[in-house]
Amino acid sequence: MRTVPSIIHLDMDAFFAAVEQASKPSLRGKPVIVGGLGGRGVVSTASYEARKFGVHSAMPMAQARRLCPNAAFLTGRFAAYRANSEIVMGLLRERSPLVEPLSLDEAFVDLEAGPYGPALAAATTPAEAAQLVLALAEDLRADIVEHTGLTASVGAAGSKLMAKIASERAKPDGLVLIEPGSERAVLAPMPVRALPGIGPATEQALRRAGLATVADLAEAGYGELVALLGKAHGAGVFQMSLGWDERPVVPDRDAKSVSVEDTFEVDLADRDRITREVELLAARCVRRLRATGRSGRTVVLKVRRFDFSTLTRSETLRGPTDDEEVITATARRLAAQVDVTGGVRLLGVGVAQLADFTQEDLFAQLEREEKEAREAGEQAVEQDVVVEEEAAVAEPAARRWWPGQDVTHREFGPGWVQGSGVGRVTVRFETPYSGVGKVRTFAVGDEELEPSEALPLRAAAG
Ligand SMILES: [Mg+2]
Repeated sequence: MRTVPSIIHLDMDAFFAAVEQASKPSLRGKPVIVGGLGGRGVVSTASYEARKFGVHSAMPMAQARRLCPNAAFLTGRFAAYRANSEIVMGLLRERSPLVEPLSLDEAFVDLEAGPYGPALAAATTPAEAAQLVLALAEDLRADIVEHTGLTASVGAAGSKLMAKIASERAKPDGLVLIEPGSERAVLAPMPVRALPGIGPATEQALRRAGLATVADLAEAGYGELVALLGKAHGAGVFQMSLGWDERPVVPDRDAKSVSVEDTFEVDLADRDRITREVELLAARCVRRLRATGRSGRTVVLKVRRFDFSTLTRSETLRGPTDDEEVITATARRLAAQVDVTGGVRLLGVGVAQLADFTQEDLFAQLEREEKEAREAGEQAVEQDVVVEEEAAVAEPAARRWWPGQDVTHREFGPGWVQGSGVGRVTVRFETPYSGVGKVRTFAVGDEELEPSEALPLRAAAG
């Protein structure tokens, strides 16, 4: 175990909601809820102002609307979150080559491997080492504010386990250091769920055995935990209960992939049968992906033809997902592009560019809602035709505007969609660098109004 608290865990505060508040001056200090706004939508992130009303991640959106009806409800802007995530991860990589992102807004960093490693190693007392780590972490937090305007919480400790616990205690906008040597005392009163690898099922099993806190686990001992949870899991939980965690910070986890494939006894030539097999493979691939607790961004289809020629086709999604519907639809789309004349002897489906994406999968929700909206739009177009025939009134082709979307108006400049309905769209004209902007309403088909790219939160100097 390390005697210097040189592992840090960084977690951006209410990241998606914070990006929205930084982008939209009128929302600063107000409750903001980002997530799927459709019928089955769930909250992805709630701002701290919304959390006061009891709104939290993974809550059904309908419930969030009841608890906090006056919040701004926004569909996520994945490109903006990704852009700011890249800035933050870049600042972390200036501190060490060992950066392990867990999601867009969370990462472990091993300071020992970076430019400050020698200074940390040279510290003569634990207090001196702790002072140095605290100074480095405060400098990092200030750097993030300077480059993004967003706040981060940081935990520092001698292990990943304790660094993560420290950052939770630091929230929001704080810094907590857990001294090496104090792990067991810090963990003792915590509920068993605080340890990684203990989910609801394990918690229940432990509760039935009368084990509720981490101290209970440590006292129960190795043999008892192995008897309850099996050898590998029991041993791991026992070690964690004592604060023993030697897991290294592992960079570049995105390099790996998960895939499954099948070779057929008889070459498949029937297009429907091939589609069906691709769907089955995609489902298996998703199960395997989920078993690793990860998500992937690139879907890969592998086809070996009757003549043993092998080809792969891939499609990269806007964000990582483990959603079966999204991955299956993508694999099906890739299969439809492949010439299968003569027959297919092997099919494979894989997911690459993996990430530990534990946040509620906003991306999958967006895909689903876009699909639903497209289908609804198609119906609307059909109805429009009927209306046109009856009343001879030509409605402009319906364009879809969604809450939070970046837009530009030819006359009024950049802004964002505050809401839309009954043929109208309301836009607030403000930017990350302006004051609170004014609201104007347009017809949904107004040709002066166009979707646009997210602006950076900090304007480039110059
Ligand atoms: Mg966060």
